[in-house]
Amino acid sequence: MSGGDKLEFEIRPNPAPVAAADRAALLANPGFGRVFTDHMVTIRYADGKGWYDARIEARAPIPMDPASAVLHYAQEIFEGLKAYRTADGSVTMFRPEANAARFVASAQRLAMPPLPPETFVDALHRLVELDREWIPEGADGSLYLRPFMFASEVFLGVRPANEYLFVVIASPVGAYFSGGVKPVTVWVSPDYTRAAPGGTGAAKCGGNYASSLVAQAEAIEAGCDQVVFLDAVDRRFVDELGGMNVFFVYDDNTLVTPPLTGTILPGITRDSVLALAAEAGHRVEERPISFADWQADAASGRLREAFACGTAAVITPIGQVRFPDGEFLIGGGEPGRVTMALRQQLVDIQRGVAADPHGWVDRVL
Ligand SMILES: *Cc1c(COP(=O)(O)O)cnc(C)c1O
Repeated sequence: MSGGDKLEFEIRPNPAPVAAADRAALLANPGFGRVFTDHMVTIRYADGKGWYDARIEARAPIPMDPASAVLHYAQEIFEGLKAYRTADGSVTMFRPEANAARFVASAQRLAMPPLPPETFVDALHRLVELDREWIPEGADGSLYLRPFMFASEVFLGVRPANEYLFVVIASPVGAYFSGGVKPVTVWVSPDYTRAAPGGTGAAKCGGNYASSLVAQAEAIEAGCDQVVFLDAVDRRFVDELGGMNVFFVYDDNTLVTPPLTGTILPGITRDSVLALAAEAGHRVEERPISFADWQADAASGRLREAFACGTAAVITPIGQVRFPDGEFLIGGGEPGRVTMALRQQLVDIQRGVAADPHGWVDRVL
């Protein structure tokens, strides 16, 4: 593709899609990330040629040479967003152009070619249109979209690859919380960090997750749901969870979240919450908060609520915090009022129930 030309997709409908009755059975209880739709998007890239061979076709395994660069040096990035079926029967996505922009930023950090944002959004639209029967009905379900890109060049030398594959797959998901929103218990990792200054913390890359898994396993071992990472330099300040950003709600109507200094993933949910909270009359602050202050402010009662946020679980109250020397509750371990109000407001905008003054909702069908 030369600059400015629109990349056309070749569409080859799956000749053997899942039968309607089987699909309905899968959609009844899809869980998270186990059920997939009939199609996938693929677009290739080669140095000198640019992006080419854009297709939507039957979802299938991707044949790979064992020397494909990604298998050795982990040059891979991804995104995650959802398509919704709204009350009036339309199909929408939430802020896909923000995911497209972040995908460009992640690509740049991993020395990969940026996919034009319009191609990224176009690919999502095409896939959602073709696989629309896979979007669960009802107020809780959605179609989770997973765009990703990896180095496909067959070469063991250490340098940025000169061939890449961009792929989008889609997975129907049910309510993240079956039986209502439950506060999570988080584990503050004493040994592991997620991202250092100058590292890849602000890029959405698989490697960040690979290095966080041992800490997440430690959290589970300690009877917790999720791990919280402290900053890699002083081991004092709260960065974020393994895959979610974190907010603190104080008794003086202030919401605080750690600033984007390069070690934190710039969440689109985080950004949306900052806007909604300010509009709701809260004071919002992006500033470092130390684990010592978190503990002291929870004990004094100044800290009323804390929550984690990200696309998958939207907004999740944090009820309890554990670390090697002890544990403490936040807000008596119950979901907080501000947390739940922000959650409802965000979900209502995403589902087309509430007005969308920011133009965040992107209509697909
Ligand atoms: C994706 C992600 C988030 C949340 O980002 P959203 O755009 O809100 O889904 C937060 N932290 C990490 C490490 C992530 O990978």
